[in-house]
Amino acid sequence: MTSPATTTPALLPGGAALSFQNGQLMLEQVALSALAREHGTPLFVYSRAAILSALAAYQRGFAGRRAQICYAMKANASLAILRLLAEAGCGFDIVSVGELERALAAGATPSKIVFSGIGKTRQEMRRALEVGIGCFNVESLPELDVLSEVAQSCGQRAPVSIRVNPNVDARTHPYISTGLKGNKFGIAHEQALAAYRHAASLPGLRVAGIDCHIGSQITEVAPYLEAMDRVLDLVTAIEAAGIAIGHIDFGGGLGIDYRGETPPAADALWAELLARMDARGFGERQIMIEPGRSLVGNAGVCLTEVLYLKPGEQKNFCIVDAAMNDLPRPALYEAYHRIVPVVQATPDAATSTWDVVGPVCESGDWLGRERALAVRPGDHLAVLSAGAYCMSMASNYNARPRAAEVLVDGAQARLIRRREQLQDLWRDELG
Ligand SMILES: *Cc1c(COP(=O)(O)O)cnc(C)c1O
Repeated sequence: MTSPATTTPALLPGGAALSFQNGQLMLEQVALSALAREHGTPLFVYSRAAILSALAAYQRGFAGRRAQICYAMKANASLAILRLLAEAGCGFDIVSVGELERALAAGATPSKIVFSGIGKTRQEMRRALEVGIGCFNVESLPELDVLSEVAQSCGQRAPVSIRVNPNVDARTHPYISTGLKGNKFGIAHEQALAAYRHAASLPGLRVAGIDCHIGSQITEVAPYLEAMDRVLDLVTAIEAAGIAIGHIDFGGGLGIDYRGETPPAADALWAELLARMDARGFGERQIMIEPGRSLVGNAGVCLTEVLYLKPGEQKNFCIVDAAMNDLPRPALYEAYHRIVPVVQATPDAATSTWDVVGPVCESGDWLGRERALAVRPGDHLAVLSAGAYCMSMASNYNARPRAAEVLVDGAQARLIRRREQLQDLWRDELG
């Protein structure tokens, strides 16, 4: 998904709460080998401090500004993580009524919720209006019409932003690039003014702001600056047409270090973006952002046990008990995740090159390719940078129950999701 790192990536990503102490991989002050033994594998483990420290970088960046951080909960929607972020002041970016109810169950403040997505149903709109969400990020003209109708039938005016497509290349994987023409998201820059005129004419809508989100795993400042300029151009044009734009929602997308990438820190990125806004006279404007991956991605690992080693003529396979249903990113985007043993091998241990693969009956079921590892059956490995778009994308393919989750805080570890039970897999079936 990114060009291969030119240098060997460091063993552990920077900024994560991971370290080796006396040969043991620790998350904060908890030895991961102990958690694997206690809770079994596959097991997701997250660091509370790493999540809060990632959030703090954004909060520092916005110090003294009118800004609302809406965590894009599709990155990781576990209730304990949502609760942690809600308590730290976050709102939420949701994409379904399921996420809405999940956020509310975790104690979210409805007015700090924004509703994104291209396929909102009338029922989803009605429920979001009923609880009083902060804003609908609308992605098409017909959606504007339907939302106006639904809001009128509820005796309300729905607050809306239109998601504009600034046609900026975020230079990321095509499946997670969203700001270019030719993808399904947003309204083309050229049509945005007309869309705002239409929105302002509809009786069930109240124009609240403007929204954009150019993609994910963005590791450079330049595409963001370009997008900011395009959005500010639009705000100028829309306001010249007499339609006030309250807030600017600049989406999410900031990348993390999976294999040596060096994305800007959130506070450094926003120093540049705010300087641009200030220079153009938009410094006082209310800002909203929708970060997902950059808040949780490097706060989590997935622990897995080595089941079998299968050396071969062309490839050596290290078969582990986590699979594409637990951690779909490699299968889905050929994504790279560092994989390290939770107990460091002794210097004399024999290292070989392994493809780390899961038990699922698909050739695409791999977690890492050509990794130098000194491993034996029964060893535990940690798949790093597994806090975002892993558990939230997990499935039950091959009738595999979803993994358990643990949240670490200092020397404490708390189970936040039990391992799914086999009976749960067919609970809703009428066979
Ligand atoms: C996925 C998504 C985000 C979050 O993206 P990250 O890359 O995880 O920060 C924000 N806004 C919208 C509309 C999204 O679809």
